[in-house]
Amino acid sequence: MIALWQSGPELYRATLALVSGVALITLPLLFFISAPYGRHQRPGWGPTLSARRGWTLMEAPALIAFAVIAAAAAPAHGGAAILAALFLLHYTYRALLFPRRLHRSAQPKPLLTVTLGALFNSANGACIAFDLSRSIAPQPAWYAAGIILFAFGAGLTHHADSVLLALRQPGETGYKVPQAGLHRLVAAPNYLGELLQWTGFAIAAATPAAWVFVFFTVANLAPRARSHLLWYRQRFADYPPQRRALIPFIW
Ligand code: NDP
Repeated sequence: MIALWQSGPELYRATLALVSGVALITLPLLFFISAPYGRHQRPGWGPTLSARRGWTLMEAPALIAFAVIAAAAAPAHGGAAILAALFLLHYTYRALLFPRRLHRSAQPKPLLTVTLGALFNSANGACIAFDLSRSIAPQPAWYAAGIILFAFGAGLTHHADSVLLALRQPGETGYKVPQAGLHRLVAAPNYLGELLQWTGFAIAAATPAAWVFVFFTVANLAPRARSHLLWYRQRFADYPPQRRALIPFIW
């Protein structure tokens, strides 16, 4: 497998094309069918796992695939090594620490979405590691701007998730209208942060795989932010009407 990745870019190119194709189909589709997890969880999507276990099984493959490829083909320069460290840090958080922050009352995750997410994460982790092993050193100004945007996005996601997780007391179930931070302007500031984070990563990395990841994240999270907004409006009569889905004052 590693020899295949190193010996020729065919598998890498095919994987990126496949991920881009899936994102192209997913983007319009998810505006009509919301992915069945979290508040949009509903019967008819097969067996489920606890949210904690589901997040770990879904995100850990990114870590493993990235580490396997990076071990065989190290990042090409210091800047790429820093990006590799940030990628590993993010997925260590997502796979191991974030699930522990979730309430036990969090909605279970369908095995189907966990499996699809794990497949994407494996492909994405491998492609990004492969690109970082061949990348040329980017312009310092773009690199610095990308890293700053990455850090800002990660901070925003972390804060927005913390606000949501603080809405429930241990043992409590159900949903409330969040009233802090960027939640006052959009329904899904955690998704906005995630998008800014990976856009920053792509600016700094300047590689095809990093930009395909941004496209996939838009395809996945933009429709979901819209579904969140419509869900809030339907569920809470007093939901502030000025709130948008993802981009303050615009959309
Ligand atoms: P949500 O915002 O839907 O939920 C996050 C957590 O907060 C869940 O445990 C949820 O409970 C709880 N919660 C949400 N809203 C409320 C509310 N109004 N009242 C009380 N509790 C609430 O996020 P996701 O689960 O979709 O995503 C979690 C994180 O993963 C985010 O940071 C997101 O950016 C990231 N992510 C990244 C993706 C990517 O493509 N890079 C893809 C998907 C997620 P419950 O589960 O019971 O609904």
